[in-house]
Amino acid sequence: MSAPLATSFIQDPDFINACYIVAFSLFITGLSMLTSPTTAVRGNKLAAVGMLIAVVATLLNSELNGSEFLLIAIGLVIGTAVGVPSAVRVKMTAMPQMVALFNGVGGGAVALIAWAEFRQAGGELGEDLAIGIPLCFAAIVGSISFWGSNIAFAKLQGLLSGSPIKVPAGLFVNIALLAIAVGAGVAILLGSTSEGLFILLLVAAAVLGNLAVLPIGGADMPVVISTLNAFTGLSAAAAGIALDNTALIVAGMLVGASGTILTDQMAKAMNRSIGSVLLGGFGGEAPAAGGGEGGSEIGGTVRSTSAADVAILLAYARQVIVVPGYGMAVAQAQHAVKELAKELEKRNIEVKYAIHPVAGRMPGHMNVLLAEADVPYDQLKEMDDINPEFGRTDVSIVIGANDVTNPDARLKTESPIYGMPILNVDESKQVIVIKRSMASGFAGIENPLFFDEKTQMLFGDAKSSVAEITSELGGL
Ligand code: NAP
Repeated sequence: MSAPLATSFIQDPDFINACYIVAFSLFITGLSMLTSPTTAVRGNKLAAVGMLIAVVATLLNSELNGSEFLLIAIGLVIGTAVGVPSAVRVKMTAMPQMVALFNGVGGGAVALIAWAEFRQAGGELGEDLAIGIPLCFAAIVGSISFWGSNIAFAKLQGLLSGSPIKVPAGLFVNIALLAIAVGAGVAILLGSTSEGLFILLLVAAAVLGNLAVLPIGGADMPVVISTLNAFTGLSAAAAGIALDNTALIVAGMLVGASGTILTDQMAKAMNRSIGSVLLGGFGGEAPAAGGGEGGSEIGGTVRSTSAADVAILLAYARQVIVVPGYGMAVAQAQHAVKELAKELEKRNIEVKYAIHPVAGRMPGHMNVLLAEADVPYDQLKEMDDINPEFGRTDVSIVIGANDVTNPDARLKTESPIYGMPILNVDESKQVIVIKRSMASGFAGIENPLFFDEKTQMLFGDAKSSVAEITSELGGL
């Protein structure tokens, strides 16, 4: 007897492909909505609905039997039980390591799928190279991505030192490991059915993933994570080709392409080449420069001020630009900043926020924090829009930002950050810098802005300092 009409209809390959097309359209629309803070949340939800449709359409595949469904259900329950609470609880400052972990799991899943397919084919991947080549590629790249992402997670989470951990003859060892992994893959494609060889491929790629990320400093991890993200996408797309699963191919390529574009944009905004990031050695834990007033290689005097004096200065301003940076994220000062802005606006002082593309430790870090504090989007100004405004700004308040305001990037050719586009805070009439000490930021270099005669330093934690200024201002 033939199956009921409804069942056969939903299991029809054309219907499943139509579902995939709907899913891709939602992915792409969702991705394009991520480009603006006003539409980003909806875009994220839309892409998630797309993913749900793709997963359900894949499960409709009639070849799955009861025990396979059970395995999938167990996987879903475990994944949901682990993923949802950790995604809900994660702090905004811990987002990069969360992304590393989630991304790594994707790469690991692809490597395991490749292994399962190898076993399913009895190791005979050489029989059909159109399947064998993408499977070996997926296994190598997925394994690198999983193990590399684990190191990135451990560094950002403080489980491993954030400083570059040098491996003796690292480049040579890495090239040798890649050669072993590729060599094992070639031997399998040429006809070897040895599972030991496939495991060697996975292990060599795993060690390569670990050793490639160990020498990279903790602060460069966001770039590494987005590179590994691109790797995971490519490996998933390759697995999709081998499994003849269109959803996996398209989703993988979208992840691969967006990860590559993000890596390129971050590297450009930091004025670094992707190669120099991946070869490591820069961006370890920032050395403390000075650690108090004065005492610097730049020379010159540092003027410190008090919250009461800053409040008086602000009370006479017409336009104030807030320049947030990593320290605002560490201190979770975004709500205090919003309160200060409200107090200024009560006095008809115009407040704008200058957003540098790599302020903080992940792309969009400042936008996310300020959006959380309900700062109106139209007050957030991107670097190119706000830079011409500094010259006509009475007071700029730099809140836990350092490198993104360093004028050496514009003026000093021998500076490691020379050429990095920065916020031209030094062009403002007065500058207030709120940070705890004279310590350097991510790049580990001094900032002449702090010694500028227009600059006054308010030493202290960003949240409490901003709250103090607001209360002083309220009392004026
Ligand atoms: P930064 O140069 O790293 O400086 C942050 C400053 O915040 C530090 O100098 C620190 O000084 C201060 N700080 C830390 N905790 C604080 C607290 N509780 N209260 C007040 N101040 C505090 O940060 P940035 O100007 O935002 O620049 C970002 C850097 O990260 C750039 O070099 C960028 O290239 C790099 N990066 C960014 C990304 C990204 O995607 N956004 C990715 C990778 C690397 P004290 O210790 O004296 O307080």
